[in-house]
Amino acid sequence: MNAVETTGRFGAFGGRYVPETLMANLLELQAAYADARQDTAFQAELRQTLAEFVGRPTPLYFAARLSEAWGGRVYLKREDLAHTGAHKINNSVGQALLARRIGKRRVVAETGAGQHGVATAAACARMGLECVVYMGGLDCERQRPNVERMKLLGATVVPCEAGTRNLKVAINEAIRDWIANPAGTHYLIGSVVGPHPYPLMVREFQRVIGDEAREQFAARHQGLQPDAVVACVGGGSNAMGMFAGFVDQPRVELHGVEAGGNGQGPTSATLNHGRPGVLHGAYSYLLQDAEGQIAPTGSVAAGLDYPGVGPEHSYLNDSNRARYHVVQDGEALSAMAELSRTEGILPALESSHALAFTKKLLRERPGLTVLVNLSGRGDKDLPGLLAKGLLKTE
Ligand SMILES: *Cc1c(COP(=O)(O)O)cnc(C)c1O
Repeated sequence: MNAVETTGRFGAFGGRYVPETLMANLLELQAAYADARQDTAFQAELRQTLAEFVGRPTPLYFAARLSEAWGGRVYLKREDLAHTGAHKINNSVGQALLARRIGKRRVVAETGAGQHGVATAAACARMGLECVVYMGGLDCERQRPNVERMKLLGATVVPCEAGTRNLKVAINEAIRDWIANPAGTHYLIGSVVGPHPYPLMVREFQRVIGDEAREQFAARHQGLQPDAVVACVGGGSNAMGMFAGFVDQPRVELHGVEAGGNGQGPTSATLNHGRPGVLHGAYSYLLQDAEGQIAPTGSVAAGLDYPGVGPEHSYLNDSNRARYHVVQDGEALSAMAELSRTEGILPALESSHALAFTKKLLRERPGLTVLVNLSGRGDKDLPGLLAKGLLKTE
């Protein structure tokens, strides 16, 4: 094992800040994952599931009309075409396969907007695993269609009615469940966050995005690479998966895009506005108040609305290998409309943050070749935007 695999440290960030009662679970998982990672039979089963169930490889798409409008060359990695409509399924099938391999019959997960819950419910149905999804009571009300999707896929959805009734309490409940049921249960975390080995493991399950994109791009361009790679950052899994394919290519710029909210209220721009601290078992940048309490967050994109960020992003930020930018709600909404009209592709609000930054980048430096991770499709966002009167269809 290399240093990161042993310690879970990315520079100063990461680690494992958990109560004693969770250590046995984490050590078991770390060993099981290290074993599976070496096993060619596991890797073959994962590859086949990604091909036949998820629909990989997803296409690399040259956005010709958008490129002309923005003054560069824009390529999209089409994770919106993956099963269940986003990149999250890559990680959910990987961890569900791992859970089955180590004899766990039951999976618990938490979900905010419901996208990770839907991907996990689908993966568990495919593997024949029992699936319990914790979701804030408020989120259940706001994301009714995803609750119904999870139920149809055979999952049990548990509304969490404590405190803020959102993702934060859902995470607490999922952890409590895992502590209470260590033997037969796997906790399936949906991003590159949490204690070791999750940030490393989730990145490795998502690196299929970057590995494919790098190969696809090189095949079309005589081995060349794009000038810049762009991805939105909530917890940071779609970005980490994409960056993993390019981080060892020093000439490829890496740009992460955080959610700035509506410009008046709170933001979700953890690396831009936070400072290091411990949340959900890892040391990383964190949106916190003067006393170290978790600060309120805000974004039109539910998938980016999280006060923490994966520890490897904190490391890439502080070492200047990647740069992190802020895009506001309105800019993302405009980019969503623009991609829909010029290319016939309706992007998720989260992915639209990456697109909006790309537009600004090309305005400053015309002619660049930019690869954008289109992390998901936008159909899920329409009911919410309609209800808030934010749909730009005029
Ligand atoms: C959940 C989600 C995100 C944010 O999660 P990351 O772990 O930062 O990738 C981004 N885009 C879409 C479409 C999502 O569903």
